[in-house]
Amino acid sequence: MHIVLLGLPGAGKGTQAKMIEQEFDLPQISTGDIIRLALKEQTEWGKKAEDFVKAGKLVPDEVVIGLIEERLSADRHPKGFMLDGFPRTLVQAEALDRFLLSLGIRLDMVLYFDVDREEVVKRLSSRRICERCQTPYNVMSKLPKKDDICDLCGGRVIQRSDDRPEVVLQRLETYDHQTKPLIDYYSLKNIVKVIPSRGDIQDVYREVQAVLRLLEK
Ligand code: AMP
Repeated sequence: MHIVLLGLPGAGKGTQAKMIEQEFDLPQISTGDIIRLALKEQTEWGKKAEDFVKAGKLVPDEVVIGLIEERLSADRHPKGFMLDGFPRTLVQAEALDRFLLSLGIRLDMVLYFDVDREEVVKRLSSRRICERCQTPYNVMSKLPKKDDICDLCGGRVIQRSDDRPEVVLQRLETYDHQTKPLIDYYSLKNIVKVIPSRGDIQDVYREVQAVLRLLEK
């Protein structure tokens, strides 16, 4: 199964991805996570990406496309994979189509997590993340058991610098201009499934589960 998760920042892609990963044994490949780790480790291209991420803008297409192709070529994914946060522009979507074609892989489905803008602004201001393993937390709904320590890996739980309100507004604008057109791009291919992403995380997951179980058959 090869799927893409699409939606506004804060729509719940990362949270749902972790749950999908566990049940369907489908690795989550998140460009945001990969970029944040490169920033933390200050690798060569992590440094190149830093200004874009901090400003709430997209890292240039050629950098992200190179990164994802490298990642997809490096590991074998016998059960498929789930792309979270990629593609985010039409150029990236077209590059992904070409790359998958060269591997003889068909993209099965795009899960589009549909949520109100006011809701994501609220969610992003209370979101926290483990700086080591990137597990998402939330001060309103999902705190770690020990203060600021990740339940899974013991890493430090922090607020992402790009979840500050001024950067969030820029990220939403970036989404409108560059990522939203992908809904039409994939709708024309008839592979978009809309998942209403309001309310309880488990309820949203039940919708996801139903869709993926059908796809598995
Ligand atoms: P995310 O964790 O998916 O919200 O991504 C965090 C940041 O990483 C974004 O705001 C971008 O600066 C950068 N980023 C992640 N994925 C991409 C992508 N596909 N194309 C360009 N920049 C990206």
